[in-house]
Amino acid sequence: MSEMPYSYDAPVSQALFDRAAAVTPGGVNSPVRAFRAVGGTPRFMVSGRGPYLTDADGREYVDLVCSWGPMILGHSHPEVIAAVQDAVSRGTSFGTPGEGEVALAEEIVARVEPVDQVRLVSSGTEATMSAIRLARGFTRRTKVIKFAGCYHGHVDSLLAAAGSGVATFALPDTPGVTGAQAADTIVLPYNDLEAVHEAFHRHPGEIACVITEASPGNMGVVPPLPGFNQGLKDACATNGALYISDEVMTGFRTSRAGWYGVDGVRPDLMTFGKVMGGGFPAAAFGGRADVMEHLAPAGPVYQAGTLSGNPVATAAGLAQLRLLDDAAYAKVNAVSAQIQALVSEALTKEGVAHTLQNASNMFSVFFTDRPVRDYEDAKAQESYRFTAFFQSLLANGVYLPPSSFESWFVSTAHDERAVQRIADALPAAARAAAEATRA
Ligand code: PLP
Repeated sequence: MSEMPYSYDAPVSQALFDRAAAVTPGGVNSPVRAFRAVGGTPRFMVSGRGPYLTDADGREYVDLVCSWGPMILGHSHPEVIAAVQDAVSRGTSFGTPGEGEVALAEEIVARVEPVDQVRLVSSGTEATMSAIRLARGFTRRTKVIKFAGCYHGHVDSLLAAAGSGVATFALPDTPGVTGAQAADTIVLPYNDLEAVHEAFHRHPGEIACVITEASPGNMGVVPPLPGFNQGLKDACATNGALYISDEVMTGFRTSRAGWYGVDGVRPDLMTFGKVMGGGFPAAAFGGRADVMEHLAPAGPVYQAGTLSGNPVATAAGLAQLRLLDDAAYAKVNAVSAQIQALVSEALTKEGVAHTLQNASNMFSVFFTDRPVRDYEDAKAQESYRFTAFFQSLLANGVYLPPSSFESWFVSTAHDERAVQRIADALPAAARAAAEATRA
């Protein structure tokens, strides 16, 4: 670690990382966790409580990642833990239908008006993969439009110009995805309706669906411009394609009904994950009944899963969703606004060019003074300043996503004490960002 400009005080994490690297590629089970974009030792966490995480070296951090979104009530929420313990005490998996999955599906259908029916799966990747298959099966068309910088999980056909970890590592594509798998994917610039109209014009009767993050958080937070989502919906309706809104990140986070609750644009299909699993592997896709009825066993489009609707995961998700009332969202939104203001104030004070963007309580900082509307804008930021900012906050007990292409997440558990700890750490981090030089 001698090349790093910061002192690292994480010997136990480093020892675990060395062990991990011997048995797991890159030492992690999901690439962004490896800290490659920011350098240094990834912290191995041993426990989480409320807004705090504790690492293997015994250091406590204010957590601004919240497991990449799911932990909207903070860690170890007593009612979620009790629901999990109750479910576990009755068994962990039956491979049969159970009441918990019905209740979770009912909760989703009740919250998100365009969802008539929902199918539970175990990850966001499975949800988007299945939604695309269903859209193709329903329309009997092959092509899919996606947007550069939007990440929909590691689905082969959707890894073209994806954000998130793919953005972090600047891999335009990935080996292992064949030309045939990518050939039916049309990648367009985000927030560019003209490009969408042109694509429909060039491929008449061929486009099965448009998939978009409801409000992208995987190139940093880049909300849709006014009218963009409605324009997508209208273009799909005119051309006989389905409009798929990926709400894996925004669902049940940005409002009771996710981003749909914010912009009211009615998708044909939607995908969910993260918050709805309460920290367990649970995700879903759903939408119009006439489309969902094409899914096996009701219809011909095959989709299945050994652990789909797992009783422990559904108990956790249901407990979390039932606690997420209007007061909970008001609380997360308020603490998010407070932290955003503190970050902007600290950076402004040090004269650091930045743009803070939000989508309800999701937010991120771009080190540029220009608004970020698409992936090209996001990539044009001075990411080296983020590295310095991140490292300083980490050293002072604040845990940010280890990449400048990710949303920050807060929870109802982020109280005044946690906010004060962030406020105390920000001046030094802003100074580090100001002083950072291009590598
Ligand atoms: N879609 C979006 C918008 C996401 O942000 C993610 C993950 O971050 C996914 C899909 C994939 O979800 P998972 O990581 O559960 O497979």
